[in-house]
Order: sequence, then structure tokens, then C-alpha cells
Amino acid sequence: MSCKIDYQPAPNLLENRIVLVTGAGEGIGRAAALSYAQHGATVILLGRTIAKLERVYDEIEAAGGPQPAIFPLNFEGATLKDFHDMAETLDKEFGRLDGLLHNAGLLGRITPFEQYNPELWQQVMQVNINGPIWMTQALLPLLQESEDASVIFTSSSVGRKGRAYWGAYSVSKFATEGFVEVLADELANQPNVRVNTLNPGATRTQMRRTAYPGEDPFTLRTPEDIMPTYLWLMGPDSAGTSGQKLDAQPPKV
Ligand code: NAP
Repeated sequence: MSCKIDYQPAPNLLENRIVLVTGAGEGIGRAAALSYAQHGATVILLGRTIAKLERVYDEIEAAGGPQPAIFPLNFEGATLKDFHDMAETLDKEFGRLDGLLHNAGLLGRITPFEQYNPELWQQVMQVNINGPIWMTQALLPLLQESEDASVIFTSSSVGRKGRAYWGAYSVSKFATEGFVEVLADELANQPNVRVNTLNPGATRTQMRRTAYPGEDPFTLRTPEDIMPTYLWLMGPDSAGTSGQKLDAQPPKV
């Protein structure tokens, strides 16, 4: 499916929507949290570094957006109980969830498989796929309370075609694509909850710098540049789209 980089969102696109963004303190997650709030959403900022989340919180408040909420969580150590406690807290506070952007991600190491450390492999799988899956299970009842809930899992081009040395990161993104197919199919007769994958494409963030240290970052789009597709997929204009694999920008040539 083509990307929506030219999409022009209505200023109040996400008014009255409660949207949770993981990895909201930095990079693409930070830009999504700010952009969703700017378009009217009450954003729940989830991440592992509270100081970063507080900065985003302050930016949203300073811009006059709806008061956000901070939810500190580290996917590495998070248990099923943590996810269920989280669902209970959000239920008490909001009673429903209209959007869930799974954005937090860990690169791990780009290294030959023969040298891949098994503990690091587990860590990457935990943060990129296992944690998000169990969090989604815990939050499904809240998403089902929404009239139009959008769940977005962040993918990558290496989750669609394997690439040497990308190890657990690539495998976790393939798993993401597969899980979304399964869940979307299960939810096919619940049109009020849709689930899709979104590949941001090469974007100017810390993760990209770590993966491609020799690259000139100014040749890349910024997180802000790719927000039109993030807004389209989170908001009502994409209602009816489920089980799709989207791109936030045309491929870098
Ligand atoms: P980033 O700048 O490294 O940001 C990653 C975010 O994930 C940070 O907020 C980080 O929190 C959070 N995070 C990492 N480990 C976590 C954990 N254990 N628990 C909770 N939060 C955790 O990366 P990005 O480039 O914005 O990437 C965002 C998403 O896009 C990822 O899923 C990535 O795989 C995907 N992606 C990015 C690109 C690209 O070119 N940038 C391309 C394809 C896909 P802290 O700040 O506290 O560490």
C-alpha cells in the first residue's frame, strides 16, 4: 500500500481520542506523541526514561495540547502483571483506548549471526515483539471499548526482506508483520479495532545513526517529515484499513 506522505490532516483529527505511544521520549515516538497531541489527542507517553517523557510532556503542555499522561515502563523487565496493572490504571483513568502506537524498539547489534550473543537476542525479541504482544493482549478490552481504535505496530524494511547481520532486529520485525496478520484476521468481524504495520523508512534518529554511522543524516527525512502517514493511520480517515503493511515514506533511493 502506498504511503500517505502528502496527507493533509484536519487540525482536530484526533480530538477526544486517547492514544498511547510507546518509546515516546525520543526519535519517531517523540514526534508522534507531539503530533498526535497537536491534532487533539490525549496522549499517554510510555517509555523507560522518565526525564525524556517529562520533556515531551512539557512540550505538549507548552504548545497548548490536551494534558498528557506519563506511564514509565521498561519492556525488558516488564511482566504480564505489569501490563494488566497498566490496563487497570488506564481503565480507571480513561475507560477506553482509541489508539496504540507500538514504536519502542531496540536495534541490538549488527553482527554476523555466528557472533550474535543469545542474551542480546532475547532482549531484542522482548522489547520489539514479546512485550508489545502481551501489552496488546492486556489492552484489547480497552481498545474494544472504542468506537474506532487503531493499533499500529512499527516494522522495518528488514522485517519484509531479511538482510545479512541484522539478526534479532530483523527477525523481531518479521514476527511483527506475522503477528499483525494473525490479529487482524482474528479481529475481522470487529471493525472498531484495526491493526496494521507501519515502516517508517530511513529516518534521522539515534537508532539510524547507530545502524549507519557513516551516513550523512541530513540526507534523511526527519521524524516530523514522516508524521502525515502516522496521523492518517491513527485517525478516522483510515477507518476500514486493517491487516495492511504501510510505509511512512517512499523508499530511499
Ligand atoms: P530511537 O531514536 O532509538 O528511539 C527508540 C525509542 O524506544 C526510545 O524512546 C527508547 O527509549 C525506546 N525504548 C528502547 N528500549 C526500550 C525499552 N526496553 N522499554 C521501553 N522503551 C524502550 O529509535 P527510532 O529510530 O525513533 O525508532 C522508532 C521505531 O521505528 C523502532 O521500532 C524502530 O525499530 C523503527 N524503525 C526506525 C527506523 C529509522 O530509520 N529510524 C527505520 C525502520 C524502523 P529511551 O529513549 O529511553 O532509550
